[in-house]
Amino acid sequence: MSATLISNARIFNGVSVVTDSGHVLIESGRISRISLRDPLPIPEGCTVVDATGCTLLPGLIDAHVHVYQDVNLLETAIQYGVTTVLDMHNEPEWFQDISKVTKQRNDVSDVKSCGFGATIKDGWPAAIVKLVSQEPKVEERISKWPNLTDRASIEGFIARNRAAGASFTKLMQEDGHTMNLPFPTIPVPTPSVEIQRAIVDASHENGMLTIAHALTNHSTLSVLEAGVDGLAHASIEPINEQVVKAFKKNNAFLVPTLAVHASCSGEEQESREKFSANLEGTAKEHLLGCLHITREEFTIKNVYEQVFTLKEAGIDILCGTDTSTDLLGTRAGASVHHELWMYVNRCHFTPQEALISATSKTADRFKLADRGKIEEGRLADLLLVGGNPAESIDAIADIQGVWRNGERLARKM
Ligand SMILES: [Zn+2]
Repeated sequence: MSATLISNARIFNGVSVVTDSGHVLIESGRISRISLRDPLPIPEGCTVVDATGCTLLPGLIDAHVHVYQDVNLLETAIQYGVTTVLDMHNEPEWFQDISKVTKQRNDVSDVKSCGFGATIKDGWPAAIVKLVSQEPKVEERISKWPNLTDRASIEGFIARNRAAGASFTKLMQEDGHTMNLPFPTIPVPTPSVEIQRAIVDASHENGMLTIAHALTNHSTLSVLEAGVDGLAHASIEPINEQVVKAFKKNNAFLVPTLAVHASCSGEEQESREKFSANLEGTAKEHLLGCLHITREEFTIKNVYEQVFTLKEAGIDILCGTDTSTDLLGTRAGASVHHELWMYVNRCHFTPQEALISATSKTADRFKLADRGKIEEGRLADLLLVGGNPAESIDAIADIQGVWRNGERLARKM
C-alpha cells in the first residue's frame, strides 16, 4: 500500500485539538509521522490529501454492539467513521468467522469481542432470545451457552472463551423488571454476587477486564460490589449517591447506550429523524422504529441525569450504542453519531468530551494501545470531517474520508 499524506488538517488527537493545520503521514498502515506545523516531505508515490478546513480524528469506537454473523453491520459502521466496535455477546464460531473477514478487509470495522457472555441457565439474554424465537435451532444454540454454576465452571468458561478469541468478559445482571415483557420466568434468574465475583476474579487472573449488563441501580450496585471494571448500560433509574460512590470505588467506566434506552422507552423520536435523514427504505424504517418495552415509570431523562452526574464525578464515559441489525431504533454507525449528539445535547457534555468518549477513553480503558489516538506508531484508523466537531458535534456527520489500516474507504454515502 502506498503512503498517504494528509495535509493542512486540524487535528483532534483523541484528547484535544492539537493544531489547526497539521500533517499526518501514513505508511504501511500506521501513522508514521506527525507534524503540528511545518509541512512534511512527500515520499515518492505518496497520495496527498489536502484537508484544509477539515478535522482529522482517530476512527470512532462503538463500545457496545452485537455483531453476531453480520458483516453488513461492519460495512455500514465504517461508512460513518466507526473503525472499531466492541461486541458484547456472541457465538464463538460466529466471532471467529467475523474475525477472518476483519483481518482480510479494510472496508469493514474491526471487532473485539467478549465471545460468550457469562450466562446462567434461563438467565439473560436467554430469556429474551426465547421470547423472540421458539425455533429448535435457537433452543439448541442456547443449550450450549456457559450455564455457570460454580468456580470450576467459571474457570473453564474463561479459559475456553479466551482461547476462542474473547478479549474481555461480559457479565449479565438482568431480572427483566424494567421491561413490559412476558418472560418465561419472572423475575428472570440472575447470578448471585458470589458467582459474579468469581467471574470477575477469574477474568482478572486471565488479564481480561469485565463489563456488566445492568439496567437498575440495584443490579448496578450488585455487579460493582462483585468488582466489575465497567457497566455496559446506564441504569434507567434516578441516580443516587450510593451508585456514584460504588462507581468511584471501582474506578468503573460507564457505556451509556442512550440509543437503545431511547428505543426501549420510545423517546427521542425527533432526534432519530435527524440521524435517519439520509437513509431510505428499510434502513430508515429500522432506525425510526422503536422497541417500546420499557415500563412506564422509567424514562430516559433519568439516564441523561445519571450520565451527566457520573461524568461530573470523574467517571469515564465510553460511547456505546447496543446496536445490532435486529434491534429497532439503532443502526450501525448512525447510532454512534446519534449517541454523541445526545451526550452533548442531553447530558451537557462539551463536544470535545463526547469525542474523547468515542476515541482515546475507550482505547485506554479497553487497553487498545494501537488505536484511538493520533500518535506516531498507532494504526492509521482515521476519520476526516468538514468543520470542527470539537466545537460543534454535528460536524461529525460531515465525513470527508475514512481510513482503516491506512487504506482509504470507498464511501457509498
Ligand atoms: Zn447489548
